[in-house]
Amino acid sequence: MEERRITVARAKMTVEYPASFMLVAAMNPCPCGYYNHPTVPCTCAAGSVKKYMNRVSGPLMDRIDIQCEVIPVPFSELSKQKPGESSASIRERVIAARQIQAARFANTPGVHCNAQMSSKQFREYCVLDAESQEMMRLAMDRLGLSARAYDRVIKVARTIADLSKSVNITSEHLAEALTYRSLDRDSWGR
Ligand SMILES: [Zn+2]
Repeated sequence: MEERRITVARAKMTVEYPASFMLVAAMNPCPCGYYNHPTVPCTCAAGSVKKYMNRVSGPLMDRIDIQCEVIPVPFSELSKQKPGESSASIRERVIAARQIQAARFANTPGVHCNAQMSSKQFREYCVLDAESQEMMRLAMDRLGLSARAYDRVIKVARTIADLSKSVNITSEHLAEALTYRSLDRDSWGR
């Protein structure tokens, strides 16, 4: 996934193909499907939720940048008809953020977006202020994030900052990025 290549090895030869893709995956929260459900109780045995989640390996979960828990929306909310932001306006923001990233990495062949930046670029473009550093330190402690997850959270924060056309990553951007790690090992199934 990270190298954006796939290698097929056979007895006589090995072939390498480009494989740059975006992985979008969904899973149930637990074997019975009701963990964290607002009205239906989860009937899973103690420890089985954690065991179920462990079927996705830690290193794979680490590489999934945005992890969102989706809880059911009650009918009363669905029927409220409150208009959200239109897809057209979100699209505009995404295009603008992509343009910022294209300009940022204009001189680096093969790097098109924040997720692909090198560690040198990471140090240059992902500077955290003192408040954000402290927030990250607390999050690492409490969520039990790995070093790999650390970089990835900050890269997502960089993208959130780009979406709001902010030159710097602020603690607000970082806080939002941290909410997208809801399935990390230590914070699920306890
Ligand atoms: Zn359950």
